[in-house]
Amino acid sequence: MLDLLLPQRCVVCGSGGLQLCAECREELPRLEPPLCARCGAPTAWPVERCRECAGRRLAFATARAAVGYDDAARRIVHAWKERGLRRLAVEAAQLVAEGLPHPEVDALTFVPADHRRRLERGHNPAERLALELADVWAIPCLALLQRTRGGRQRGSSAAERRTVRGAFRARAAAPRSVAVIDDVYTTGATASSAATALRAAGARRVEAMAFARALRRG
Ligand SMILES: [Zn+2]
Ligand SMILES: [Zn+2]
Repeated sequence: MLDLLLPQRCVVCGSGGLQLCAECREELPRLEPPLCARCGAPTAWPVERCRECAGRRLAFATARAAVGYDDAARRIVHAWKERGLRRLAVEAAQLVAEGLPHPEVDALTFVPADHRRRLERGHNPAERLALELADVWAIPCLALLQRTRGGRQRGSSAAERRTVRGAFRARAAAPRSVAVIDDVYTTGATASSAATALRAAGARRVEAMAFARALRRG
């Protein structure tokens, strides 16, 4: 509700009107084929595995994201996370639905926020995105995961890999196929850890989906 009362400015370029103006929306770097079939990294031609994921044990079948995590995407995610701009979660869901095929899964779920962050923000951005996508795709969204221990570190790739191993467990039996939603895909370690927990709870196939994906330079 508060969103509607505040003057609206584009969170990327600052122009008045919408929280995400048409030009900035248009310029977001869509992730389009060719992609790595497994981890969704942009590649020169279609591959089953790429330099980024070759040799890694990834518990998800595929990972896909709508846009590259550039400065504009970073500003959108930041405003949506830290300022709780709900309209941006709707925009992000629309961009995901435009860019990614409708997943053939029994349910959506989301990466749970750690308790402290959730208290600070009063919402979980990944959950919001999953709920919006559940609406768009008409797939039920189930809160299947919980964290097993504190900190969700996003500071660096190394920190992410260290902290997420065994970071989740399922709260309930998982349906046969699940798409796990997150706001940003960084190294895949979080998505893989979530997928491991879902598979331990009975899922046979887990797809990872995110609004934005970090891109490796060079
Ligand atoms: Zn703009
Ligand atoms: Zn890959």
